[in-house]
Amino acid sequence: MNADAKPILVIGGGIAGITAAVEAAEVGYRVVLVEKEAYLGGRVMRMYRYFPKMCPPTCGFEINARRIRQNPRIVVHTQSTVEELSGTAGDFKVRIRKRPRYVTGKCSVDDSVLERLTSTRVNDFNQGMDETKALYYPHDMAYPPIHVLDREALSEADEELLKEICPPEALDLEMEEEELKIGVGAVIVATGWQPYDATKLEHLKFGKCPNVLTNVMMERLAARGGPTRGEITRPSDGKSAENVAFVQCAGSRDENHLPYCSAVCCMASMKQARYLREKNENAKATIFYIDIRAVGRLEKFYFDLLEDSNISFVKGKVAEINEHPETRDLILDVEDTLSGEKLNQTFDLVVLATGIVPNSAETKLPIELKYDDYGFIDGTTSIDGVYAAGCATRPCDVSRTTKDSTAAALKAIQCLNRGE
Ligand SMILES: Cc1cc2nc3c(=O)[nH]c(=O)nc-3n(C[C@H](O)[C@H](O)[C@H](O)COP(=O)(O)OP(=O)(O)OC[C@H]3O[C@@H](n4cnc5c(N)ncnc54)[C@H](O)[C@@H]3O)c2cc1C
Repeated sequence: MNADAKPILVIGGGIAGITAAVEAAEVGYRVVLVEKEAYLGGRVMRMYRYFPKMCPPTCGFEINARRIRQNPRIVVHTQSTVEELSGTAGDFKVRIRKRPRYVTGKCSVDDSVLERLTSTRVNDFNQGMDETKALYYPHDMAYPPIHVLDREALSEADEELLKEICPPEALDLEMEEEELKIGVGAVIVATGWQPYDATKLEHLKFGKCPNVLTNVMMERLAARGGPTRGEITRPSDGKSAENVAFVQCAGSRDENHLPYCSAVCCMASMKQARYLREKNENAKATIFYIDIRAVGRLEKFYFDLLEDSNISFVKGKVAEINEHPETRDLILDVEDTLSGEKLNQTFDLVVLATGIVPNSAETKLPIELKYDDYGFIDGTTSIDGVYAAGCATRPCDVSRTTKDSTAAALKAIQCLNRGE
């Protein structure tokens, strides 16, 4: 091991970045982990459960948070982005911008303080389906376990109130943005994904009909920390969802949207059909699909669902969704391609299985990486010393993400040890 090795920079603190960071740190390398949100864990933290075992995200995350907390070789910067990155393998220079949190973490903020505030912000963690106070805790399992203040959402009256009722060392309302300049030896890009913008699928009426949701919204509806405290209900009237349609390939495998398969949506919808059935024994789910993609060990998950008489699978692409003007139920036009029958079925809730878009399609890092036509990063990148992992490279599940993150950590370690 090269004792003089510079740290490894990991960009993105989702499961890919966390895995790469702990794997490298636990064999003795220093790691700087940069995450743009106020918490680590990425998209997986927004799941209610994750397939195939249906564990809550806490399962793996608690262990990872402990591995990070206990390892002095890992330095975490949340609310941070990389603004400049230059140099060559073994010797990169990085400039990091760290946005102010305004909460120091020196002492805890009491819930009674939050209750007294009136200013609110849209809760992006719950996909915009509810609000939090301007001073908020990112989510139940947040790491680092520190509140955040949204300064722009805070009213003047609430600012005065906070000065009055918060212990002075808890907040620093004058906290400023920081700029950090560091040297690193290798870089791992793990910037992950975002859901495809479902408003672009005009025929499916997302954004126009309140009872048409996306799969990422469904994860939050099912979760206890979600906007309905885990009840799967219709946004239009709060009634329990009894008859739910899952529309597969909403965007994916479509030349006009995402020509590729997003790899996890079939499993995600089948998992969500299970949420529905577990929460309401009378509920029915219908999955409209092109092909069911549940490979390897995951196929058992699919076969188990076939045993449930309240879950139906219809092979056919949904042509259009229309809303009943009074009930706000949704009428789906679809051709069952196995029977040739044209169907016109009514549901009280529709979940669109929207696909995975790499964050790197929209936001490029300040270094010339090699991208494919859709913005995914080539895993080995085109730059010596820079490696990519997880959904930044292709749509994939957690199991595949952790494997290629471990591989990226190994590549980074090899880079630091060249010439030894
Ligand atoms: C609806 C749905 C359900 C799913 N359910 C499951 C499931 O049950 N089981 C399963 O195995 N998989 C599931 N997946 C797949 C799973 O979400 C991914 O495998 C996983 O999120 C990949 O992790 P990642 O770290 O690559 O990306 P992400 O989870 O997206 O993490 C990336 C991190 O990087 C940060 N970041 C982005 N850009 C920057 C930047 N410029 N600077 C700093 N930080 C940045 C982000 O804030 C984020 O924290 C599901 C996917 C979908 C769409």
